[in-house]
Amino acid sequence: MHFDLPMDLYEKRQRRDVLETEFLPEFESGNISLVGAAIYIEDRYLPQNGLRVALDQIARLYAETAASERFAICKNYREIQAARETGKIAFLITMEGIEPLGTDLNQLRVFYELGVRAIGLTHARTNAAGHGGVFAASGSPAEGLTPFGREVVRECEALGVIIDLAHINPAGFEEILSIITKPPIVSHTNVRRYYAIERNISDEQIRMIGERRGVIGVNSILVSPREEESTLDHYVDHIEQVANLIGIDSVGIGFDFFEFIYRQWPESRQKELAAKFTTPHFISDLKNHSHARNLTRKLVERGFSDEQIEKILRGNWIRIFREWL
Ligand SMILES: [Zn+2]
Repeated sequence: MHFDLPMDLYEKRQRRDVLETEFLPEFESGNISLVGAAIYIEDRYLPQNGLRVALDQIARLYAETAASERFAICKNYREIQAARETGKIAFLITMEGIEPLGTDLNQLRVFYELGVRAIGLTHARTNAAGHGGVFAASGSPAEGLTPFGREVVRECEALGVIIDLAHINPAGFEEILSIITKPPIVSHTNVRRYYAIERNISDEQIRMIGERRGVIGVNSILVSPREEESTLDHYVDHIEQVANLIGIDSVGIGFDFFEFIYRQWPESRQKELAAKFTTPHFISDLKNHSHARNLTRKLVERGFSDEQIEKILRGNWIRIFREWL
């Protein structure tokens, strides 16, 4: 439920068939059926160009999807099911950080019409809606959402846009839960027990999601602060921790594969990322979508039943789509 695909399509906008040549082989060998395609605006485009770059990212996603028989952009539950029945890979367009909206609620309506169906208010930085959780054990702003952030949340639920609690600071997390009535999601995160940064979620936050029948997507890039512990087995430890606390019905996948972008960056940008956030430790046998079958094998090996595995890999997210979309 989280993949920085539109950003990469935008960076490669001079080229054609990027989706078919660079991504389709990995999606197919991993038997991926649905991808949350996240609109994200990097700092260098802000504040002036956030809206334009977001629109261009969506434009590239539509153009690349139209050029292939293998993909479908889905806007509701019925279309997601239809994509499955016709063997297409479904994209659900998501937004990570509301910077493209500026402070204008009308823009939310526009992005809804363009197909955005899940929104996380912030990435790590502060914006017009609220504050992101820091990549440190503590230190996020103590305030929750801004009045605009609260309006966005209410309008998302009214329109049928899933509210995603990934990245939001702890005060914002609680405030969103006090506003929405449908099951919340955290599209991509890790558990704080194994990597103690505020960007990850605490046991208490996991319980709050469970109480509301929400789903938590387990992230592959913040599994441990230590490289030697960033393994597929430890990824499954995160799944187990969520399942132990709130049950198998609340665990999903939010791989957030990022290695393909990271390796395209010059060393200076990699260092910038390390200074601003953290050094990501990619899991050698879980670093792109073609590796998804390694996870299935590992879940079998770790004793999960077929029924539990089906819920983790697809069924739980499908329940969320049925309830929201
Ligand atoms: Zn993220």
